[in-house]
Parts: sequence; C-alpha cells; structure tokens
Amino acid sequence: MAARKFFVGGNFKMNGSLESIEKIVESINNAKFDGTTEIVIAPPALYLLQVQSELKGPTEVSAQNCFTEASGAFTGEIAPQQLKDAKVHWVILGHSERRSMFGDTDKLVAEKVKAAIEAGLSVIACVGETLDERESDKTMDVVERQLEAIAGNVPESEWKNIVVAYEPVWAIGTGKVATVQQAQEVHDDIRKWLAKRISPSVAEATRIIYGGSVNGKNCGELAGAKDIDGFLVGGASLKPEFIDICKTVK
Ligand code: PGA
Repeated sequence: MAARKFFVGGNFKMNGSLESIEKIVESINNAKFDGTTEIVIAPPALYLLQVQSELKGPTEVSAQNCFTEASGAFTGEIAPQQLKDAKVHWVILGHSERRSMFGDTDKLVAEKVKAAIEAGLSVIACVGETLDERESDKTMDVVERQLEAIAGNVPESEWKNIVVAYEPVWAIGTGKVATVQQAQEVHDDIRKWLAKRISPSVAEATRIIYGGSVNGKNCGELAGAKDIDGFLVGGASLKPEFIDICKTVK
C-alpha cells in the first residue's frame, strides 16, 4: 500500500493584505522543500489569483469555501466551477467557523462537497466536536454524523480527492492544542469508520490531517502519531514558523 503523502494546509481565514500575503508567498518560494509534503495555502478569495501567479514550485492554492451551484443569482458566492476555471484546485469545506457562524449545516456542507467534487476539485473536509460535545463523550458521534453526511454524497471512487481535517473546535485559535493521544484516538476512529463505511482501501489511502493550534513547536510531536497525516494550520500559517510546519518530518 502506498504511503500517504504528508499534507500541510495553511488557512489564512479573513487575514492579510496584498502586501502581507505577498511576503508569505515570498517566504514559501524561498523555502527549500524536499517534496515529501503536499502544501496548499488558502488566502481569502480576493487574493487567490495573485497568490497563484506568484507561487513558484508545487505549492497550490485553495479556496476557503464555495457554493453548491454552477452559476446564477447567488450574490457573494463562488461556484466550484469558477474555482476550477481559475485553476484553483482545492477548497476547504465544513470549517467550524462556517458551521457555527455562516449556517453551514451538515446537509449544506455535504451538498457543497458533492458540487466541488463533481466540478473536479479536491476538498479539505473539516469535522470536529465542540468542548461541550467532547466533555459529554459525544466526540465520535459528532464526527461520524458530519462524515456520514459527506459520505452519502461522495462515491467511493472520489475519496481520493478528499482530505479529512479533524479540527476539534475547542482547539481552533485557542492555543489549546489536542494532545497527541487525543488527536491520534480520533484519527484512528475516523480511519476505522472510513474502512467500515467506505472501504479498507479508502481508509488506508485517505489523508486525515489535524487542525487546532498547530505551531512550529508542537508539529513534530503531533506528526509522530501513526494516523496524523498532516495539518490544517490557521494562525501559524501567517507566521514564519509555517515554513517549519511544512518541513515537519513524519
Ligand atoms: P488555528 O486554526 O491553527 O489558528 O487554531 C486552525 C483552523 O481553523 O484551521
């Protein structure tokens, strides 16, 4: 079975300016990566094409969201087909900030994933529990419910275009990183769930990445866990340490 290629995504969220983002791109262009990790950065939509044209080497760009329809009267939205047209091959969907603040329900996330996959995009699909849910032992119920919605909309053959990001909500932007054990336990459960619900080969091949206060200091230890295949990095993706995270050795 081919090893899973380590994956690091940088989610800039609604941060940055033409100038500051250009500096980040410059630092990525100057970093010497050895090709063992797939790197994808997600600036705000406004800057996608700028970043894409400035990036040298294999690092790709990702959108932070897209809609379900190909075109039409949907003010403020971006179609997956438009991303494809602009050669933006990746999109983050189901991020907890979209789920909690912008009405992205399990059903809508699943519809967006379906539309994105059908348009030929690759998807970073985010799942994760809140602190309340963890404390009431509902972590896997929540994660499975979120995954099940997606699985119902994605044929087995398309899972090669999905990276699952496990992002416990309580660890996002809080500086409270999950322990290696906490993260590994959920990643292992997600892989077992994929094996049962989709297929053992999909479970073996799918990258399950961790997100939530990943930084240049904790990335090495997290990467040591068997089922952590990379990271989705928020705050630290705007800082020089992002390069160190991209260079994490598995
Ligand atoms: P954080 O965000 O690294 O700032 O915690 C992670 C994310 O939201 O993807």
